[in-house]
Amino acid sequence: MSEPIPNASPLETLARDRVRIVLVGTQHPGNIGAAARAMKTMGLARLVLVAPEKAPDLNTTAMAAGADDLVEQAPVFATLSEAVADCALVLGCTARSRRVQLEQLEPDEGAARALALAVQGPVALVFGRERTGLDNNELQLCHASIHIPSDPAFSSLNLAAAVQVLSYEVRRAALGGQGVARPAPASAVVASEEGPAPHAELEGFFAQLSETLEAIDFHKGRTPDSAMRKLRRLYLRAGLGSAEVRLLRGVLADTQRMAMLAGRTNPPADD
Ligand code: SAH
Repeated sequence: MSEPIPNASPLETLARDRVRIVLVGTQHPGNIGAAARAMKTMGLARLVLVAPEKAPDLNTTAMAAGADDLVEQAPVFATLSEAVADCALVLGCTARSRRVQLEQLEPDEGAARALALAVQGPVALVFGRERTGLDNNELQLCHASIHIPSDPAFSSLNLAAAVQVLSYEVRRAALGGQGVARPAPASAVVASEEGPAPHAELEGFFAQLSETLEAIDFHKGRTPDSAMRKLRRLYLRAGLGSAEVRLLRGVLADTQRMAMLAGRTNPPADD
């Protein structure tokens, strides 16, 4: 962890160092600055950009109002997957309620869960594009979604306003110790003692799972998307540790080997 903040509690330091605010495909550079300001007022520091439509500019600096250090330090990635590769938890913020079949959390639950898992590694709160939000592929990378319970008839907050609400909830959790005091929700319970596997390890597992399902002809001509979506949900909910991911990948490797042997040794089917 980086240098201590004067008078900050361990949870505040955890929030600053481990809670990542990820802005995906931001269209207005001013919003990047406003989001940085929202974060800094709440003691957060890790801003990450994914393929912003326009690079930060003078509007960013003006809207950051003194929080431009966060923008200057913000790494820029080409894809969300790369931006969260090392994260123990990825939560996607959506303006539309129950848009995807992901577990949906209230902002305070999401913040508390993020802080609880920040002990294990970096965690990401992900925000979408001003016009279109996060796409389905991006949401599929998330363990759960967070929806700020806005008026359903006018549900979309300004991007930086949404960052403000979530940053505030993280701060409340850090100040009140909610992240540790609350009983962990079922899906935050990590069975393995080593903590949750980072996102990139899970993505490697999902890629191998998808290949294996092809190799054993699981889909039988159906499109693989729906089954893979359901399997992703199931495994993400399980909160797998690295050793568990390795175990599952071992099972897949043997399955792939057997499928190959079966392909070699089976007599060719009569057409
Ligand atoms: N028109 C877009 C809204 C984008 S607003 C849509 O319908 O999806 C930009 C981003 O701010 C969203 O992608 C989301 O991350 C965040 N946001 C806005 N309103 C929100 C809400 N009510 N709850 C959670 N996140 C919200």
